[in-house]
Amino acid sequence: MSEETIFSKIIRQEIPTELLYQDDRVTAFRDITPRAPTHILIVPNILIPTINDVETEHEVTLGRMVVVASKLAAQEGISEDGYRLIFNCNQHGGQEVFHIHMHLLGGKPLGPMLA
Ligand code: 5GP
Repeated sequence: MSEETIFSKIIRQEIPTELLYQDDRVTAFRDITPRAPTHILIVPNILIPTINDVETEHEVTLGRMVVVASKLAAQEGISEDGYRLIFNCNQHGGQEVFHIHMHLLGGKPLGPMLA
Protein backbone atom coordinates (compact mmCIF):
# COMPACT_ATOMS: atom_id res chain seq x y z
CA MET A 1 0.00 0.00 0.00
CA SER A 2 1.60 3.25 -1.12
CA GLU A 3 1.41 6.41 0.90
CA GLU A 4 -0.59 9.32 -0.39
CA THR A 5 1.22 12.50 -1.35
CA ILE A 6 0.15 16.13 -1.42
CA PHE A 7 -1.19 15.45 -4.93
CA SER A 8 -4.03 13.29 -3.53
CA LYS A 9 -5.19 16.24 -1.46
CA ILE A 10 -5.00 18.50 -4.53
CA ILE A 11 -7.02 15.97 -6.55
CA ARG A 12 -9.68 15.82 -3.84
CA GLN A 13 -9.59 19.64 -3.68
CA GLU A 14 -8.80 19.54 0.04
CA ILE A 15 -6.16 22.27 -0.31
CA PRO A 16 -6.46 25.45 -2.37
CA THR A 17 -5.00 24.99 -5.85
CA GLU A 18 -5.82 26.49 -9.22
CA LEU A 19 -7.16 23.41 -10.97
CA LEU A 20 -6.86 23.75 -14.73
CA TYR A 21 -8.62 20.50 -15.63
CA GLN A 22 -10.24 17.52 -13.94
CA ASP A 23 -12.23 14.54 -15.14
CA ASP A 24 -12.87 10.99 -13.94
CA ARG A 25 -9.26 9.92 -14.65
CA VAL A 26 -6.88 12.87 -14.50
CA THR A 27 -6.29 16.25 -12.87
CA ALA A 28 -4.09 19.15 -14.01
CA PHE A 29 -2.81 22.10 -11.99
CA ARG A 30 0.06 24.59 -12.07
CA ASP A 31 3.37 23.61 -10.49
CA ILE A 32 3.99 25.49 -7.24
CA THR A 33 7.59 26.25 -8.32
CA PRO A 34 7.33 26.99 -12.04
CA ARG A 35 10.50 26.31 -14.04
CA ALA A 36 9.06 27.94 -17.19
CA PRO A 37 6.29 30.45 -18.02
CA THR A 38 3.98 27.45 -18.44
CA HIS A 39 4.63 24.67 -15.93
CA ILE A 40 1.62 22.42 -15.43
CA LEU A 41 1.43 19.01 -13.75
CA ILE A 42 -0.96 16.41 -15.15
CA VAL A 43 -1.61 13.55 -12.74
CA PRO A 44 -3.78 10.42 -12.62
CA ASN A 45 -6.54 10.62 -10.00
CA ILE A 46 -5.46 7.21 -8.69
CA LEU A 47 -2.17 6.84 -6.85
CA ILE A 48 0.54 5.27 -9.01
CA PRO A 49 3.83 5.98 -7.19
CA THR A 50 6.31 5.76 -10.09
CA ILE A 51 6.39 4.94 -13.77
CA ASN A 52 7.79 1.56 -12.66
CA ASP A 53 4.34 0.82 -11.22
CA VAL A 54 2.45 1.44 -14.46
CA GLU A 55 0.42 -1.57 -15.62
CA THR A 56 -1.57 -2.38 -18.73
CA GLU A 57 -4.76 -1.40 -16.89
CA HIS A 58 -3.41 2.19 -16.72
CA GLU A 59 -3.06 2.61 -20.49
CA VAL A 60 -6.26 4.62 -20.92
CA THR A 61 -5.37 6.93 -18.04
CA LEU A 62 -1.85 7.55 -19.35
CA GLY A 63 -3.24 8.20 -22.81
CA ARG A 64 -5.71 10.67 -21.31
CA MET A 65 -2.80 12.48 -19.63
CA VAL A 66 -1.18 13.10 -23.02
CA VAL A 67 -4.46 14.25 -24.59
CA VAL A 68 -5.03 16.68 -21.69
CA ALA A 69 -1.44 17.96 -21.99
CA SER A 70 -2.00 18.69 -25.68
CA LYS A 71 -5.26 20.53 -24.99
CA LEU A 72 -3.74 22.56 -22.15
CA ALA A 73 -0.77 23.50 -24.35
CA ALA A 74 -3.25 24.86 -26.89
CA GLN A 75 -5.11 26.70 -24.12
CA GLU A 76 -1.80 28.23 -22.95
CA GLY A 77 -1.01 29.32 -26.52
CA ILE A 78 2.25 27.36 -26.71
CA SER A 79 1.33 24.60 -29.18
CA GLU A 80 2.96 26.11 -32.23
CA ASP A 81 6.22 27.21 -30.57
CA GLY A 82 6.43 23.89 -28.77
CA TYR A 83 6.85 22.50 -25.29
CA ARG A 84 8.22 19.56 -23.33
CA LEU A 85 6.48 16.68 -21.53
CA ILE A 86 8.50 14.95 -18.80
CA PHE A 87 8.04 12.08 -16.34
CA ASN A 88 10.75 11.79 -13.68
CA CYS A 89 11.28 8.36 -12.13
CA ASN A 90 12.98 7.63 -8.80
CA GLN A 91 16.30 9.05 -7.61
CA HIS A 92 18.26 9.27 -10.86
CA GLY A 93 15.26 10.76 -12.60
CA GLY A 94 14.93 13.42 -9.91
CA GLN A 95 11.47 12.35 -8.76
CA GLU A 96 10.37 14.16 -5.58
CA VAL A 97 6.66 13.41 -5.38
CA PHE A 98 5.76 9.72 -5.55
CA HIS A 99 2.48 10.04 -7.40
CA ILE A 100 3.26 9.97 -11.10
CA HIS A 101 2.90 13.29 -12.88
CA MET A 102 3.63 14.62 -16.32
CA HIS A 103 5.33 18.02 -16.40
CA LEU A 104 4.13 20.27 -19.23
CA LEU A 105 6.78 22.94 -19.71
CA GLY A 106 6.83 25.74 -22.25
CA GLY A 107 6.48 29.41 -22.98
CA LYS A 108 10.20 29.90 -23.68
CA PRO A 109 12.97 28.02 -25.51
CA LEU A 110 13.88 25.17 -23.18
CA GLY A 111 17.23 24.34 -24.72
CA PRO A 112 18.82 20.90 -24.93
CA MET A 113 17.07 18.35 -22.73
CA LEU A 114 19.93 17.73 -20.31
CA ALA A 115 21.26 21.30 -20.15
P1 5GP B 1 9.22 15.72 -9.56
O1 5GP B 1 10.58 16.21 -9.23
O2 5GP B 1 8.69 14.72 -8.53
O3 5GP B 1 9.10 15.22 -10.97
O4 5GP B 1 8.31 17.00 -9.52
C1 5GP B 1 7.47 17.33 -8.46
C2 5GP B 1 6.91 18.70 -8.76
O5 5GP B 1 5.82 18.94 -7.89
C3 5GP B 1 7.92 19.82 -8.56
O6 5GP B 1 8.08 20.53 -9.77
C4 5GP B 1 7.30 20.67 -7.45
O7 5GP B 1 7.53 22.04 -7.63
C5 5GP B 1 5.84 20.30 -7.53
N1 5GP B 1 5.12 20.39 -6.27
C6 5GP B 1 5.51 19.86 -5.08
N2 5GP B 1 4.59 20.12 -4.13
C7 5GP B 1 3.58 20.81 -4.75
C8 5GP B 1 2.35 21.35 -4.27
O8 5GP B 1 1.98 21.26 -3.11
N3 5GP B 1 1.58 21.98 -5.19
C9 5GP B 1 1.94 22.11 -6.50
N4 5GP B 1 1.10 22.76 -7.31
N5 5GP B 1 3.10 21.61 -6.97
C10 5GP B 1 3.91 20.97 -6.11
